[in-house]
Amino acid sequence: MLDLLLPQRCVVCARGGTQLCMRCRAGLPRIEPPLCERCGLPTAWPVRRCRECAGQRLAFASARSAVHYDDAVRSLVAAWKERELRRLAAAAVAVVLEVVPAPSVDAVTFAPPDPDRGLKRGHHPPRELAKALARVWELPLIAPLRRRAAKRQRGLSRAERRRNVAGVFDAGTGVPRSLVLVDDVFTSGATANAAASALRAAGAKRVDIVTFARVVR
Ligand SMILES: [Zn+2]
Ligand SMILES: [Zn+2]
Repeated sequence: MLDLLLPQRCVVCARGGTQLCMRCRAGLPRIEPPLCERCGLPTAWPVRRCRECAGQRLAFASARSAVHYDDAVRSLVAAWKERELRRLAAAAVAVVLEVVPAPSVDAVTFAPPDPDRGLKRGHHPPRELAKALARVWELPLIAPLRRRAAKRQRGLSRAERRRNVAGVFDAGTGVPRSLVLVDDVFTSGATANAAASALRAAGAKRVDIVTFARVVR
């Protein structure tokens, strides 16, 4: 509630009045088709595999994201994470609903936080996003994943990220046949893949990934 009492400024352009002004919200760089059917990377024409994911063994069936992780989105995600600006969460949810089609799965879940990263009052953007999407998609929200501490992914190469995060997740019982795993940012896909892998090991037959933002190199 604190953010309601502070002077409001757009986290992208710093214009006064609101946490995300109409212009910056409208200008968020939506990811539009054609896409790689599998990993969701924007491509010149629709493909089933792309240069990013060809030859990779992925535990998830598809990944979809709402916006490119550009400088504006980076500021938005940072403010959402660090300053708990709830209106940004609402904006992120709205943009995901606008861009990503509703999945037909049994349940929605999210990548749990790293236990080392000092969670403030339980604030965890991926869970907030998953909860809001589950409500609109009329799907149950479940939380079967646990996460052990790992080194920070920042600054690691793709292969290092994959090794670093492999095995940090495991899932309890009661995992349904198909589910969507929600996260805030899809960077290399290593986290999504490790989480999907744990869900598959616990009995899920299909895991799809939905994130607010995606790094497109
Ligand atoms: Zn703005
Ligand atoms: Zn791909």
